[in-house]
Amino acid sequence: MVLDNLGSSLRGTLSKLQGKSRLSEEDVQEVVKEIQRSLLQADVDVALVMDLSDSIKQRALDEDPPAGTSARDHVLRIVYEEMTDLIGESTKLPLEPQTILLAGLQGSGKTTSAAKMAWWFSKKGLRPAVIQTDTFRPGAYDQAKQMCERAEVEFYGDPDADDPVEIAREGLEQTSERDVHIVDTAGRHALEEDLISEIEEINTVVDPDTSLLVLDAAIGQGAKDQAREFENSIGINGVVITKLDGTAKGGGALAAVNETDSTIAFLGTGETVQDIERFEPSGFISRLLGMGDLKQLSERVERAMRETQAEDDDWEPEDVMKGQFTLNDMRKQMQAMNRMGPLDQVIDMIPGFGGSIRDQLPDDAMDVTQDRLRDFEVVMDSMTDDELENPRSVGAERVQRIARGSGKSEDRVRELLEQHQMMERMLKQFQGMGDSDMQRMMKK
Ligand code: GDP
Repeated sequence: MVLDNLGSSLRGTLSKLQGKSRLSEEDVQEVVKEIQRSLLQADVDVALVMDLSDSIKQRALDEDPPAGTSARDHVLRIVYEEMTDLIGESTKLPLEPQTILLAGLQGSGKTTSAAKMAWWFSKKGLRPAVIQTDTFRPGAYDQAKQMCERAEVEFYGDPDADDPVEIAREGLEQTSERDVHIVDTAGRHALEEDLISEIEEINTVVDPDTSLLVLDAAIGQGAKDQAREFENSIGINGVVITKLDGTAKGGGALAAVNETDSTIAFLGTGETVQDIERFEPSGFISRLLGMGDLKQLSERVERAMRETQAEDDDWEPEDVMKGQFTLNDMRKQMQAMNRMGPLDQVIDMIPGFGGSIRDQLPDDAMDVTQDRLRDFEVVMDSMTDDELENPRSVGAERVQRIARGSGKSEDRVRELLEQHQMMERMLKQFQGMGDSDMQRMMKK
């Protein structure tokens, strides 16, 4: 995740402040240095880093923590506010008919993002269409078409045409009964004159409500120049940062946001159409600082639960929250979790979990990969109903029997039982967490 290092190193530094009620100049200096180091490592522009760390330092020294607030929470709040200021609001894309133009260099993730955004709008009840005008990159047409099929959204493209402006015009006409139009454009390796003049022409024909610049999170400082070029030619209202699953950087994209005086609209976090998140600045930064992002989490949980439930009418997720957690429940949970995406990302969204608890878990504790899940399912098929309902009754002998019966190793069987216990513990923590606790953590 972007600036991931900032999150963990800052949490480390801040934890040293635990118990202190006042901050010394050295304390502040150490926190500021840590922030600078992480931001620079994440490719954030030096001038931006200096501005940000100066204001954090100034405020941390000048402002007294409000009564009852620890020094740690005080600094955390200042960092949070200053980061929120830097990143700004998210790009406001209304849930209504509109036209969106995507710009960016080749390989930045435009085509993928077009299909992802269309999927996102369709889940919000709109009827989007993707129009592919990239005649430059071989394969762009097929790729866009396939992704739109997967996303179950309307697609327009013409593999035989060679005039992108004409395709855009024709595409808008052919899909006029759709309400959200997402127009994908061709990129080049670098900013070439013909790319700029082509996109200017498309821009005139399409007359978009919003133009988004798509940027690879790993882009680094080059983002700034690119952003300026596109800003000057078509005007950029927002940024989509892609491939956040693959890099701890993303700072370059922040520079682009700053350069175009725009904001972030979406984040891309994987290669499939569902791997998209609406950018929510406060949630994003809370997550970064280990404070959790309840809104994103509940959206993902809700979606995953709904999909799992759709397959099995008898299963009620609410039952799990009420009382006993059996292996049968765990099977459903794992299937739901698989749909939510990588668990370490999910964990980061849970308030209070992100920092402390995550750091204590073994690396593979959250590993609910397809392979493991498949093995677990085979193991569970070899267990009796009684064992599935009372997994704690399974002792060494039964582990042996289940391993033989399922053809899996005893270690795998034990892993399943351990995973169950861990999830049971996590659920107990959730149950013990009242609404007011959650609100308190969100406000921090
Ligand atoms: P375009 O040339 O700008 O249209 O870029 P594409 O949409 O074709 O993306 C280039 C490559 O990046 C493809 O292999 C995509 O699968 C991959 N990609 C795009 N977005 C993401 C993302 O959020 N995460 C990951 N891991 N890969 C992505």
